Amino acid sequence: MKRILVTGGAGFIGSHLCERLLDLGNEVICLDNYFTGSKMNIIHLINNPYFELIRHDVTMPLFVETDEIYNLACPASPVHYQYNGIKTIKTSVMGAINTLGLAKRTKSKILQASTSEVYGDPEVHPQNEAYWGNVNTLGSRACYDEGKRCAETLFMNYHNQNKVRIKIARIFNTYGPKMNSNDGRVVSNFIVQAIKGKNITIYGDGSHTRSFQYIDDLVDGLIKLMDTPDSFTGPVNLGNPAEITISALAAMIIRMTGSKSKIVYLPLPEDDPKQRKPDISLAKKELGWSPKVDAETGLAKTIEYFRKNLK
Ligand code: NAD
Ligand code: UDP
Repeated sequence: MKRILVTGGAGFIGSHLCERLLDLGNEVICLDNYFTGSKMNIIHLINNPYFELIRHDVTMPLFVETDEIYNLACPASPVHYQYNGIKTIKTSVMGAINTLGLAKRTKSKILQASTSEVYGDPEVHPQNEAYWGNVNTLGSRACYDEGKRCAETLFMNYHNQNKVRIKIARIFNTYGPKMNSNDGRVVSNFIVQAIKGKNITIYGDGSHTRSFQYIDDLVDGLIKLMDTPDSFTGPVNLGNPAEITISALAAMIIRMTGSKSKIVYLPLPEDDPKQRKPDISLAKKELGWSPKVDAETGLAKTIEYFRKNLK
């Protein structure tokens, strides 16, 4: 039995990961400061003797004994990471330093939840791991993008200098049950708006694209990445290459919910990437992983979740 720390474990991805790691027979320590996560996401795990919950902020050092660490703590939605940009940078950078220090002391393997945002508004399409990205260091997304880029650098330096066993996952847009209903991300926004019969808010003209992966596929990919040989550090893209325009996503959600909501067009936020699609050749080769859940199936499950849980 391994003891595994999941920082950001009460968040959307973290809560699914904690559940899966417990199912696989591990002991799980879930750490969170509840900025965007919620105890409700993991409440069903609290009576499990192999599950431990710690209220803690990753910007502060932590002393626990672990075998593996998944470092997920960081707000992921633009609305939330821009709420306090300085705190977002501290969470990524100081959080990386503290968890890497912990990994170094305990000789744990450590995985960083990096992001497709390291590619910024990409000029290469689809994006592969060799692309260095196109990020505005001063824009409103920079607190997140540059924090995550610096975290990748810290991971690689701890690996090269201190032989810490690292894994870097570049996660592309992920959706599914347990997304926060007021999270501000596009899939949860559109589903909540459609169910409530409110206007569907498309930012810009809806021609920009994203590639959405279902949460179960991502969790598979993260665990497979953690289990790769020590010689493989990544970075590796984890995403579903099925690219879709935001307009097409809105139309799909309106159809699947049978909603009478109207579409309204609002200004596109600053530096909003125009296109995004992962090249997942490396994940296929090194992890034997590719996503299995198509949009129709994943969205149906997510819609069902919000229908049951929306107040
Ligand atoms: P989320 O906001 O649901 O989860 C983040 C969790 O981290 C929350 O529970 C939050 O309370 C916690 N947290 C934030 N700051 C913290 C701090 N200082 N100390 C301790 N806990 C803190 O977001 P998510 O979608 O589950 O994202 C998880 C990770 O995956 C993030 O690192 C994010 O950058 C990365 N990621 C997510 C996506 C996506 O599409 N969901 C894409 C790329 C990368
Ligand atoms: N978006 C939108 N309406 C919304 C929320 C988001 O049109 O209500 C757009 C947003 O401008 C972006 C895309 O959907 O182009 C994905 O946004 P999200 O915040 O989910 O993720 P990210 O921009 O970080 O990929």
